[in-house]
Amino acid sequence: LTEAEQAVLDRIEQENIQFLRLQFTDILGTVKHVSIPASQAEKALTEGIYFDGSSIEGFVRIQESDMRLEPDPDTFAVIPWRDEKSGEAARLICDVIDATTGEPFVGDPRTVLKRAIARAEDMGYTLNVGPEPEFFVFEKDENGRATTTTHDAGGYFDLGPKDLASDLRREIIFNLEEMGFETEASHHEVAAGQHEIDFKYDDALTTADNIATFRSVVRATAELHDYHATFMPKPIAKVNGSGMHTHLSLFTEDGENIFHDGDDEFGLSERAKHFLGGILEHAPAITAIANPTVNSYKRLVPGYEAPVYIAWSGVNRTALVRIPAARHPAASRIELRSPDPAANPYLAIAVMLHAGLDGMEKEIEAPDPVRENIYKFDEEKREEYGIETLPENLGQAVDALEEDEVVQEALGEHVTEKFIEAKRQEFQEYNLAVSEWELDRYLEKF
Ligand code: GLU
Ligand code: MG
Ligand code: MG
Repeated sequence: LTEAEQAVLDRIEQENIQFLRLQFTDILGTVKHVSIPASQAEKALTEGIYFDGSSIEGFVRIQESDMRLEPDPDTFAVIPWRDEKSGEAARLICDVIDATTGEPFVGDPRTVLKRAIARAEDMGYTLNVGPEPEFFVFEKDENGRATTTTHDAGGYFDLGPKDLASDLRREIIFNLEEMGFETEASHHEVAAGQHEIDFKYDDALTTADNIATFRSVVRATAELHDYHATFMPKPIAKVNGSGMHTHLSLFTEDGENIFHDGDDEFGLSERAKHFLGGILEHAPAITAIANPTVNSYKRLVPGYEAPVYIAWSGVNRTALVRIPAARHPAASRIELRSPDPAANPYLAIAVMLHAGLDGMEKEIEAPDPVRENIYKFDEEKREEYGIETLPENLGQAVDALEEDEVVQEALGEHVTEKFIEAKRQEFQEYNLAVSEWELDRYLEKF
């Protein structure tokens, strides 16, 4: 046993853990668990746990389905809420190993991200990522199904504690902190029922793990109070959607932020601008991964603080990339505003990193920053500035992914193929559906 593995066994003993949840993620970003009794912990840590991968979305074909979960001992965390049935539980995030070859499984999103991280490391860099996930909390109906009635709607005031919303948010934060998160800011967002909780930036892998954990904690905590928390990007029409702005910077091994240049107007170095150039160049294909649902594109429209146009800017919230003011050199970073919290965090961070590194390697020049509200530009002005738009729907985003070899390489052949197949089908099913809007508009008119 390594020191880290022994530490896990010690904690299991000390905290009287009865069950371990072995956690991993499918290509579409859904968190999966395999539960094992704590007595199996040592075996899980040393030999891994075998499971049948054929039942997991986009994982494997039935005939080649033997997978092994290898827990990452650094990700041990006690689950702070108690489930009456299972007693004290803890979770471990796992790498998925192809049991036949003994190699990391090419369809495991965590493996995809590790490959991106290794490429950055070869160049001497570590990526730091700080996410700003937003979400809605809704009431459930009498059958226990989620509604889109916000939990902080006026009617609640007579029922009990006035600020139900901030009570729930406080409890979510408490649970996050118990699981090792350092939360930085949390606030009620623009829309009723909408919240944002920001946690401290960390290296790319830790942050991707954190986002996956964050979503489970938020949903589980809301569930305990009979609410439904959702990371669906645009649950209510004509109201701000939920984004997951992502702050990115590259550090050297000595802890120097290579994105910083004090002499630049935006505090950004040449290398940061090349990274930015890469992000903008590959933005259409990144969108397929960072905005992976039909619904994601209902958020990426003008007027709701979500990006639509491929441009960057200092403070302007209408641009795809914003450069937040940095109070010290370590804080120089770029903020990509397109990702939404339905994205698979491992794949999303992996494609952003590869796109940025591609920009640095090819020294892709970022265009001039835009200093005005781009929502107000007409087509002519956009053309004059050379501003392209993000894909307008999932179909266009998948088209863009099919044309972008850099992003495909970032994902690897297996994930690219499975992802495109799943998303083409999703978009086709959407196109086949007849929506309420169409019925309202046409049923009686024609
Ligand atoms: N909710 C906005 C979005 O869809 C972002 C609002 C903000 O935090 O600036 O991205
Ligand atoms: Mg926000
Ligand atoms: Mg932000």
